[in-house]
Amino acid sequence: MRKKHWYDYLWISAVSYLFLGLFNIIFAWLGMIFFITPLLIAILKGNKAYCNKYCDRSKLLELLGGKFSLSLDIVPPVFLRSAWFRYGFLTFFMTMFSLMVYNTYKVFTGVSLSKNVILLWVFRLPWTETGADAVTPWVAQYAYGFYGVMLTSTILGLITMVIFRPRTWCVYCPMGTMTQTICKIKHRKETQEKFKML
Ligand code: SF4
Repeated sequence: MRKKHWYDYLWISAVSYLFLGLFNIIFAWLGMIFFITPLLIAILKGNKAYCNKYCDRSKLLELLGGKFSLSLDIVPPVFLRSAWFRYGFLTFFMTMFSLMVYNTYKVFTGVSLSKNVILLWVFRLPWTETGADAVTPWVAQYAYGFYGVMLTSTILGLITMVIFRPRTWCVYCPMGTMTQTICKIKHRKETQEKFKML
């Protein structure tokens, strides 16, 4: 049996994150760690160590789909792996993310705070916890928006885990596509520099 490492238990942070957000939306800001860390690793190291080892969400999907057999384990459709779909989904995801940031900016400039979490970019769920009242409105607005992004991507990950293989989300995950692109660009640059030195 493979020896367990500390990072095999990172699924706990994925569950804790979603759980904490139910009680205090401001905890949603912690999700920035999951957002910035993979990008930093890709930019500074030029590798996908985050995806390969440290991603909390992939650990959760592996656990539920693999160990708990909640996955039908069907090969995902080919189109999910295609560049047009992955980059199209990344573009859509980042457009929605930008809109979320814009909404935060509007609250920063005086528009009233909207105490909702938007699920799957369509469903507006009223969020009645009280954490938002303790901070300045734009901080709370970003938290609502970011929590919606994290919840939406987790739900998509869980749905595709059940229907297909446990880590099907990783095939089209926007973060995976971004870090893969960064690594490709970085390696291309390094190769070009090596050739220049020859
Ligand atoms: S592709 Fe996304 S979900 Fe999968 S390991 Fe990478 S960051 Fe995590």
